[in-house]
Amino acid sequence: MKKICLLGATGSVGGNTLDVIQNHSEQFSLVGFSFNQNIVRAREIIRDFKPKFVTAGNPQFAQDLKHDFPEITVFSGLEGLVELASTDYDLILTAVMGSVGLHATIRAIELKRQIAIANKETLVMAGDFITALAKQNKVPLLTVDSEHSAILQCLQGVRREDVASVTITASGGSFRDRTRAELEGVTVEDALNHPNWSMGQKITIDSATMVNKGLEVIEAHFLFDLPYNQIKTILHRESVVHSMITMKDGASFAELGANDMRQPIQYALTYPNHLKIYNKKSFDLAEIGQLHFEAMDFQRFPMLALAYQVGEQGGSYPTVYNAANEIAVSAFLQGKITFLEIEQLITEAVETHQEVTDLDIDKIIRIDEETRVRVSRKIR
Ligand code: NAD
Ligand code: MG
Repeated sequence: MKKICLLGATGSVGGNTLDVIQNHSEQFSLVGFSFNQNIVRAREIIRDFKPKFVTAGNPQFAQDLKHDFPEITVFSGLEGLVELASTDYDLILTAVMGSVGLHATIRAIELKRQIAIANKETLVMAGDFITALAKQNKVPLLTVDSEHSAILQCLQGVRREDVASVTITASGGSFRDRTRAELEGVTVEDALNHPNWSMGQKITIDSATMVNKGLEVIEAHFLFDLPYNQIKTILHRESVVHSMITMKDGASFAELGANDMRQPIQYALTYPNHLKIYNKKSFDLAEIGQLHFEAMDFQRFPMLALAYQVGEQGGSYPTVYNAANEIAVSAFLQGKITFLEIEQLITEAVETHQEVTDLDIDKIIRIDEETRVRVSRKIR
């Protein structure tokens, strides 16, 4: 029985993870989870899964749960995520949104637990530090992001030194068929209408700006230890090919399937095995008929070009790109800025960033915080 700790159980990835755990209750049990605001859903999860530990983002909700479920240890707030990551479990799946997952991820690595990362912002914010810490503690970083899971699946059974490049596919998000001029005045509702995937709000906006693919390029650099010139991106509107690898002799291997996050989540839990998936989404290539691929247009999607740039610059630049995006997306979702202002805020934050050398985790956290303040000041 593998004991699972799930950060962000009430979200989109969280819900899919609970499904996988429930469908394989002979192999997995949920021993702990965190949630931020959705107390109704948290109560359901407690009743269905009977965990030992829960972290509530909101201290009042923590008090309520302590009262109603005296048999459970309840933590709260950001420290509560670290306390949860310090409990007894085998694998932690990080499905919180944004860089709030950082400290809990660090704790889990220090405790040498298995790590399954959905929370890509943590890796982008502090990739050098997280990967070095994982290496030092001999902890493999498993991935839940569908593209990176596809790459990991394709890498099984090949010699790493024979891989020439990886290609990450991008659906193009909600506005893929609009020109830049047509992005003026788009609404939050339009942006949240993703053609292929049902996901949390932040990542759906990130898909529309192509920042998500930018974060994924940086994530691939850290997860697979690849230079940026070996990480390619391609527009593929069906999201059927989840990503692929190309060998030195030109052979390419891809992972194909339905747009169902339970597959990459389950693979991270059962790695390197492929178990049965229940209530499978239909996947029939004959029914799909045609697949389309287009070269990525970096003028149309400048945030992807910027991600390659900050990735190459390295150091504190990816931290700034990520922090500026988190603040900008939150402001867009609150109706405070326009869609195109997201790009402007990120670009300005990166351009005005003064590089910091001799980075350590404290400096990274400070740069993240300073960037958030700097970007927030520009928002009315
Ligand atoms: P979501 O918004 O649906 O869920 C986020 C979860 O994080 C919720 O449980 C929420 O309660 C929790 N959370 C949010 N703010 C918090 C805070 N301040 N403190 C504690 N908990 C907090 O998001 P999602 O779409 O499930 O995405 C989660 C992560 O997985 C993101 O990093 C995203 O980039 C990544 N990811 C998501 C998908 C997907 O299909 N949704 C795919 C690949 C990667
Ligand atoms: Mg992805």
